[in-house]
Formats: sequence, structure tokens, C-alpha cells
Amino acid sequence: MKRALITGVNGQDGSYLAELLLEKGYKVYGLMRRKSKVDYGNVEHLKNEIEFIYGDMTDPISLINAMRVSQADEVYNLAAQSFVGTSWEQPIATAQIDALGVTNILEAIRTVKPKAKFYQASTSEMFGLVQEIPQKETTPFYPRSPYGVAKLYGHWITKNYRESYNMFACSGILFNHESERRGKEFVTRKITDAVARIKLGVQDRLELGNMEAKRDWGHAEDYVKAMWLMLQQDNPDDYVVASGETHKVREFVELAFKHVGIEIEWIGEGVDEKGIDKKTGKVVVSVNPKFFRPAEVDILLGDPSKAKEKLGWKREISFEELVKRMVEADLRRVKEEVNF
Ligand code: GDP
Repeated sequence: MKRALITGVNGQDGSYLAELLLEKGYKVYGLMRRKSKVDYGNVEHLKNEIEFIYGDMTDPISLINAMRVSQADEVYNLAAQSFVGTSWEQPIATAQIDALGVTNILEAIRTVKPKAKFYQASTSEMFGLVQEIPQKETTPFYPRSPYGVAKLYGHWITKNYRESYNMFACSGILFNHESERRGKEFVTRKITDAVARIKLGVQDRLELGNMEAKRDWGHAEDYVKAMWLMLQQDNPDDYVVASGETHKVREFVELAFKHVGIEIEWIGEGVDEKGIDKKTGKVVVSVNPKFFRPAEVDILLGDPSKAKEKLGWKREISFEELVKRMVEADLRRVKEEVNF
């Protein structure tokens, strides 16, 4: 039986990856931070199948312990301060977790089980102010947030440990991947949650920042398969994982509303722009500059050719299907919450 250790197991990606590995017959260990109230997050439904180990990415001793206890053959480092917005408010914590945390886990592997395979969750945010469209493995990086900068360190230290110590260490440069389990601070889930609430009459309006930003959005369930595939190859390498399509935040908004039968008409410009429900004339979307970022990533578009050729990976869930799934899940959840 193969053994896997997942850091960030109770996050969005951790939960889908845990499901995939359990299905494949792995023994799954999950690193958990101790809190005053136990929080299984997205793996509540798997709490009896996963072996939890308490630890923290900023505590090297706890990671050595996690490696000793799990004796993992494969380590997936998905733990992070993962929200770009927060990285301006907590730049040091973001660096300690997302940058130095990677060295901590790599050292723990090197100390306890140097033959273990390692997956690092790198990110399209490393491309930031994009130097090329579409972005591929060879595109120069230009991060635009403390999050992107910290993740770039994590990316390079992974490569460096592969080259320095011959470790089986891979980075997946994953473009935005969302799902019904995405945190509500991210724009996609913020939109689908608001659309469900507005449809059900428990919220009036959705306030957003920059709707011109373009992202390459896929479904997390597809993307965790690429993580696993990377560790099944003969040689370690880095791969871009993306849908190969880009859409404006505005398009996501329009599609999500359309799914509940609301057609949006835009009036005004800049911070005064409003999205109107065509049928009722009510304002359902407006701009709040509080959601603008100090430095923005205007466009992300990934070229997943290498992952397709070498890993045989391709995404199954389209952009339209992603939006539909997220809206429907939020409709169901909000209905339950408000007891319809
Ligand atoms: P990111 O790509 O990891 O930063 O993912 P997010 O979902 O947080 O943001 C995606 C894009 O949506 C960024 O360009 C944001 O500036 C833009 N955006 C516009 N309005 C909002 C908002 O209200 N919340 C968030 N999180 N992002 C917003």
C-alpha cells in the first residue's frame, strides 16, 4: 500500500486529492494545524479515512515528525496562505508559510526519507505581469503580489533540491482552479454564492473589484489528477496545468447570473459601473474600490501542451460546466441555510 502525506489536506485541493488517492488505495496522512476547535474543512466526509498528524509548515520539527509517522512515499505540499489579497496584509506570514515552509518540508523529507517523491503547488501567479501570452514552463516569471513572490521562492527551492540532492521533486504551475469547495474570498465563489443569495432573495447586491481581470479557470477535481500524474513519471519535472482558455471576471458574473435566469445589463463606467437585472431594473452588481489590489495581474492564460503530451492530462470540466456546478451547489446550500 502506497503512503501519501498531504499538507493542506482540509483545503479545496487537499480534499479532492485525498479522495483521488483513497480511491487508488493509498494510505493517506494529512497535516493539520491545531486549533481550539477541530476543523476538518473540506475533508469532514473523509475524517475517518485520513490519518491526521498535527503540524505546521513553519515548524520544521513538526514536519520531521509528520515524515517519521507517515513514512510517506509521496508528499503533496498544498498547505499555503493561498489568498493573494491577504498577502498584502500578511506578507511575512505568507513568506514564512509559502516560501520557507517549502524548505522546511523538503528538509524533513531529506532527513527522514530522501527517496520520497515531492509535489510543490506552484502557481500561475508567478507569471504576474505576464511576459508572454500564453504562459508556458519557459515563460519568465514576474510576480505581482507578496503571495506570488513567496510562491516563486517555493518553486525555485523545489527545483534546487531536485538539482542539488537528486530528489524526485516536481512543481505543478497550476492556473486558477475553482470548485464548489473554493473559499468565499476568491472571486468565483464570491460570485456564485452571491448569485444564489440574490436569486433566493436573501442578498441585494454583489460588490466586486476589477472585473476586467482575465483568468484561466478550471475545476480543481481535474487539476489534482495532474499532481498525481507528475509523481508517477520516470523523472521529476515541472508542468503548467491550465485550461488554455481565458475569461474576464465580468464574463463569470454574466454566466453565473444567466444560470439562474437573470440577464445582466451594464451601465456606467469605472467605479460607477453597475450591473442591472434586465427584467426588474434592480442593481445587482456594483464596484467597490476596496476590492482593487495594489498591483494587479491583468491576464493569465496557460498553455498546457507539455502536461498533455508528457502526462496525458487534459481537463474534463469546461468553463461553462464549472460555473454551472458552482452556482447549483451554492443554490442548494443557501436554500438549506435559509430553510426554504
Ligand atoms: P487570484 O487570481 O488568485 O488572485 O484569484 P481571485 O479569485 O482572488 O481573483 C481573481 C481576479 O478577480 C483578480 O484579478 C481580482 O482582482 C479580481 N477581482 C475582482 N473583484 C474581486 C473580488 O471582489 N474579490 C476577489 N477575490 N477578486 C476580485
